Amino acid sequence: MSAISRICILGGGTAGWMTAAALSNKFKSLGLEITLVESDQIGTVGVGEATLPHIRFFNQALGIDEPTFMKSTEATFKLGIEFCDWGQRGDHYIHPFGDYGLPLDDLDFHQFWLKLQKAGQARRLSDYSYPIVAAENGRFQIPGDDPNKIGSNFGYAYQFDSSLYARFLRSYSEDKGVRRLEGRVVDVDLDSESGDVNSVKLEDGSRVTADLFVDCSGFRGVLIEQALETGYDDWSQWLPCNRAIAVPCESRGELLPFTRATARTAGWQWRIPLQHRTGNGHVYWNEFISDDEAAHQLMSSLEGPALAEPKQLFFKTGRRKKFWNRNVVSIGLSAGFLEPLESTSIHLIQEGITSLIELFPSQTINPLDIAEYNDRMALNFERVRDFLLLHYVATQRNDSEMWRYFQAMELPASLQEKIAAWSSRGYVLKYEFGVFLPPSWIAVMLGQNLLPTDHDPRIDKYPLADVKRRLDEIDQETRRAVEATPTQAEFLRRHGAASASAPILANGM
Ligand SMILES: Cc1cc2nc3c(=O)[nH]c(=O)nc-3n(C[C@H](O)[C@H](O)[C@H](O)COP(=O)(O)OP(=O)(O)OC[C@H]3O[C@@H](n4cnc5c(N)ncnc54)[C@H](O)[C@@H]3O)c2cc1C
Repeated sequence: MSAISRICILGGGTAGWMTAAALSNKFKSLGLEITLVESDQIGTVGVGEATLPHIRFFNQALGIDEPTFMKSTEATFKLGIEFCDWGQRGDHYIHPFGDYGLPLDDLDFHQFWLKLQKAGQARRLSDYSYPIVAAENGRFQIPGDDPNKIGSNFGYAYQFDSSLYARFLRSYSEDKGVRRLEGRVVDVDLDSESGDVNSVKLEDGSRVTADLFVDCSGFRGVLIEQALETGYDDWSQWLPCNRAIAVPCESRGELLPFTRATARTAGWQWRIPLQHRTGNGHVYWNEFISDDEAAHQLMSSLEGPALAEPKQLFFKTGRRKKFWNRNVVSIGLSAGFLEPLESTSIHLIQEGITSLIELFPSQTINPLDIAEYNDRMALNFERVRDFLLLHYVATQRNDSEMWRYFQAMELPASLQEKIAAWSSRGYVLKYEFGVFLPPSWIAVMLGQNLLPTDHDPRIDKYPLADVKRRLDEIDQETRRAVEATPTQAEFLRRHGAASASAPILANGM
């Protein structure tokens, strides 16, 4: 039995309730007492609707039934992200959750494509990707289990209403014994000798004492920053967008199984289709656009009437200098922020929770475990930062001051190396940690017209005609598989995941 017997989670947003659900599921049998404090008066950030495929494993570990979860959170399936106007204005490509084509003789598919493309005989790279062609046609089904079939080598994620997800996990956690307290933390009591947090004081004067605190208080960082003054690594020189405006609107048209990110002159705009509405937002750098103009660009491009007043958000890209400091672990926005271009924040929450569970103190909190946790999370944040930055620098756009800023930027060494290895012969350097695997890098680099000068020489032993025949077969197989795939709306109904309040599904579209 651990000497850590009481945990206090401060914050009831996505981070707080994901943490509460996972810890109560793992440690309930050990008699761990978990208290979550949240303030209705402060509320949550109210955004964060698009996810990465890993969240499925999070839900599965909790024993959550997929259709029930999807109905409860108005969720849709997500096969990837469509990027519009990033390489050049008018361009668009989908970064899919899956591989392109099928590997041949253990060589990467994209190498065959590069050879054929150089000879002017290749179709779009996207045509050899089942999740992309399915997404473009509004279709979805669960991946098949035959690895030699085209409809098997992809993953999928969800797009959901974040407040409904928090509510769903709250009910799960309370069933597992988590105690919820409503109230604002107004003071933090630090141990005069160790400097650890002893307790938090609520507005009504009551106190919550614990051995370990998880700070899920959002951008405020009530424990990790306001109380412990941990410090923040500011990454705005690389990712300078610092504001967003978010607004939901009525959905129009087919229910598409992907998120869209459209590049703008001083940022980019998201579109996230849920069952009952569409989420929209404009992420921008206020140096080059006024708040009014940013709001105008967003509101004038909505597909349907707005369902709420637009909400403005302010942020600074970067990460906490220590994610785990003394007896406080920061998870969620309190740990750091990277813009939602690749829907990574909820994933970083999941990484934080997984590492906390793996390194959970057996007796007392061990500095070696803290160091390991901090190293892992730092790498995870850094890898995501580089991947996001790739979108801004692998581009031919120079039509506004923001795009010219990126053209003149000195890149982090880790990203420079990655681009250099790719540019010579299409090789993607592999990372030890980091969520984005080579197919993701390939999708963005080729999607934004960053073509390597050459391909892997091992491909040259294959005659061009054979390569073409093989790729044509994959293209045809992909199209046949997509034709046999139901629309997302149809699949949601069959799967028992369609919510009753979803107008787009009621219309039978
Ligand atoms: C513009 C934008 C778009 C985003 N889009 C995505 C996306 O598409 N995908 C994705 O993965 N992520 C996205 N994110 C990130 C995502 O929203 C967050 O990672 C996620 O919502 C977790 O937030 P949180 O729980 O850390 O903080 P919050 O939601 O802010 O919750 C903080 C909690 O702490 C409580 N609290 C704070 N102070 C106190 C106090 N003194 N006393 C008591 N309680 C307190 C609040 O009441 C609240 O319950 C986006 C973020 C932004 C800003």
